[in-house]
Amino acid sequence: MTWRYALMMVPAAADDARTDFAETFTAVDPAFPALSVGELSTQRGDGIFESIGVVDGHAQEAEAHLDRLAHSARLCDLPAPNLAQWREAVLQTAAHAPQRGEGVIKLILSRGVEHGPTPTAWLTAADAPDFTAPRENGVRLVTLDRGLDSGAAARAPWLLLGAKTLSYAVNMAAIREAKRRGADDALFVSSDGIVLEAPTASLILRFGDRFVTPAHDGGILPGTTQLSLFEHLEVLGHQATYETIPHARLAAADAAWLVSSVRLAAPVSAIDGMPLSVDRELSASFNRYLLSPRD
Ligand code: PLP
Repeated sequence: MTWRYALMMVPAAADDARTDFAETFTAVDPAFPALSVGELSTQRGDGIFESIGVVDGHAQEAEAHLDRLAHSARLCDLPAPNLAQWREAVLQTAAHAPQRGEGVIKLILSRGVEHGPTPTAWLTAADAPDFTAPRENGVRLVTLDRGLDSGAAARAPWLLLGAKTLSYAVNMAAIREAKRRGADDALFVSSDGIVLEAPTASLILRFGDRFVTPAHDGGILPGTTQLSLFEHLEVLGHQATYETIPHARLAAADAAWLVSSVRLAAPVSAIDGMPLSVDRELSASFNRYLLSPRD
């Protein structure tokens, strides 16, 4: 990944009514270290993040990502982010992201330095990887047991299941396990057999002319790309619904996609070795929509 820009930010209180937060920003060279060794984000993964797709210099769906950042902050007992400040920081960072083609902006809000006074916040801009192959040829999935039942999110909110935390070691381990099993990506299933999400993407299934995604019941991350694509599908007159999807129902799907902010829509070509037909034209139309300017 080619890093283009990094911006450190002193987080303002949520009720700070300033209209210009420029004095809270410091651009730093992304090639040099910028964090204290006492950072709890690096010591414990204690913080939250967002990855925003950038197309021709435009940060896609910035408001949806800021809303989710605030949601994750609430779940993690972090101070509420000042959305005006983050909005300004996203705009400033987008100006340093690739102005032609695709990029990615990351927003990170960490609990801060151990015994330190405030959270640490920073943003980065980088070139996006080339995702042509998964967008066109598809991805093979294996289902992996997440080891928690579908009631875990409600029963044990400290597991932070609906928050986008920095603790992604488990998600990365699941992708490595999927690759060991000859697939490209994983699909988490609860221990009682309910289909959830991929480690870095949401799942959309097509049954006939209906598009279905797993219900947002706190156990999975609400995906901004899935939400945007559902709005688009509804405008086109399709039915798009949230449902509890038992593992056995995967076999009845006519098509499936993993969707996320930077890779966008990757059609699923197989689940657990069972081939699924890749609808190249529909997938291409999803990606044309996702690559169009979206607010
Ligand atoms: N689910 C998980 C666990 C994720 O990490 C992500 C994105 O990284 C998604 C779903 C998709 O979210 P979005 O479409 O907002 O990128």
